[in-house]
Amino acid sequence: MQDCIFCKIANGEMGELIYENERAAAFADLNPQAKTHILVVPKDHYANIVDGVPSEVLADMVEAVEHVTQEAGIRESGFRVIMNTGDDAGQMVHHLHMHVLGGEPLGEGLITR
Ligand code: AMP
Ligand code: ZN
Repeated sequence: MQDCIFCKIANGEMGELIYENERAAAFADLNPQAKTHILVVPKDHYANIVDGVPSEVLADMVEAVEHVTQEAGIRESGFRVIMNTGDDAGQMVHHLHMHVLGGEPLGEGLITR
């Protein structure tokens, strides 16, 4: 989608990727809310998790989570995955993304809102 910043990042037109597979890409959050804060996004544009996302896209996103948490050394210590959806969740970027947060105890409060 034109003028979508995450479309551009995911498809290598700007910024720097940490990891990519066939249908998903991962990059560092601009404003990290934990020691490790990575965003995993589909390369194609979907507004959110209830925008008819094909199962193979979700599978590639999960594969990317597995890969980046292993690389970041947080797979064993634990991490949190958040997908803000719509206004009440405070979704700011309307290109589907998983926040992957970890690297320190995250506590019980909500992070990324
Ligand atoms: P959300 O509120 O779930 O839509 O979160 C959007 C996230 O995208 C926030 O954590 C921002 O810090 C992050 N973000 C916005 N623009 C960029 C960018 N250009 N590169 C990396 N992260 C970004
Ligand atoms: Zn997009």
